[in-house]
Amino acid sequence: MRVTTAFNRVLKLPGAWVDQVSFTDVGIVIGLRRRTRLLTCPCGWRTRSRYDSSRRRWRHLDFGACKVFLEADVYRIDCGACLRVRTEQVPWARPNARHTSDFEDLVAWLAQRMDKTAVSRLLRCSWEAVDHIVTRVVAEHIDDNRLNDLFRIGVDEISYRRGRRFLTIVADHDTGRVVWVGKDRSQKAFEEFFDALGERTAAVEAITLDGSSIFKSVAEQRIPRARICLDPFHVIGWANEVVESTYRAEAPHFPIGDRQGRPSRREWRRARYAVRAGAERLDERHQTILNGLRRHSYRLWRAWELKEQLRDFYRIIDPADARAYLNQWCTAALRSRIPAYHTLVGRIRKHFDAIASAVELGLSNSRLEGINAKIRLIQRRGYGFRDLDALTAMIYLCLGGITITLPTDPRPGA
Ligand SMILES: [Zn+2]
Repeated sequence: MRVTTAFNRVLKLPGAWVDQVSFTDVGIVIGLRRRTRLLTCPCGWRTRSRYDSSRRRWRHLDFGACKVFLEADVYRIDCGACLRVRTEQVPWARPNARHTSDFEDLVAWLAQRMDKTAVSRLLRCSWEAVDHIVTRVVAEHIDDNRLNDLFRIGVDEISYRRGRRFLTIVADHDTGRVVWVGKDRSQKAFEEFFDALGERTAAVEAITLDGSSIFKSVAEQRIPRARICLDPFHVIGWANEVVESTYRAEAPHFPIGDRQGRPSRREWRRARYAVRAGAERLDERHQTILNGLRRHSYRLWRAWELKEQLRDFYRIIDPADARAYLNQWCTAALRSRIPAYHTLVGRIRKHFDAIASAVELGLSNSRLEGINAKIRLIQRRGYGFRDLDALTAMIYLCLGGITITLPTDPRPGA
């Protein structure tokens, strides 16, 4: 069998024959000959007339440990639809790519599952190449249909560049997918999401927001019929701040447990954990500390108890009783004589409807918190992104519900 025939059988390239095979220092270079004179513009327009040509190489999947490159003439065409000279689209690679589609699909599939360093080492290509490839593959897969059938959504911000810059993330509560990445934390970034949604905004029934949300007024304006829910995570966060400030005010004075004298550092830490952690995570020693606080530092104990009662609001209260329970909690908190709780009650009453709605509809931003955690992981795994587009593309790739077909997967109809 001739070597070109052998490579033809192995490669099965669309639209080209293997013409020549050379073993070079960089790897195997496979020269290709087209099966047809018909050339295709990236826009889909076809022609037989050529403007000019150049020789180009694409990296393809390795043979063993050998790098493989495809080489062919690429033509520029004077496109009758784009009305300008463009480089034709070859059947085995995406426009402007220097890697074949098979190679790029493999990179994208791996990037969904492992860190960029591992991908770049395994496939022997640079981080920048991985970023470029992911951006191209995502651009091909991302589809406006993802914005169909959005009924319950959540919006949150995520920081990048060590907390100095922010993205706006919109997720679908029902599928858990990220459907929108706004390249900023602003009302404008959120408005752009609704602009893209167009008439489909009418389908949105509920939206979850975080506490100090700059997104609230946009939501009220663009989806006036949707119920706005305030994320429990943030409300509990407010209560934890009260506990924390009470702890700091009381800590220098309280004895821990029944022991007299100044508590040791370790005991302080343990007490701090006891008041901060959820009640269900405490052991006997923590209970002893709390009992001691109840006797000797009632105010801190009460701050802890009110925080736990607010957590119960999300954990065990029947949604039908949500509003009554929250009202009772506010009354009790006002009686506590802890000034920070008075401020908190004001805040809760201001957002009362949104807080109760979250319990009634069983919605929280926990899904978005989960997404945020994954995005932080993507950032860590990526060790920095060339630019915002690359980070955005990686977020869509990993969290946007994109399915990549591997070159080794059975082809439909094959
Ligand atoms: Zn065109």
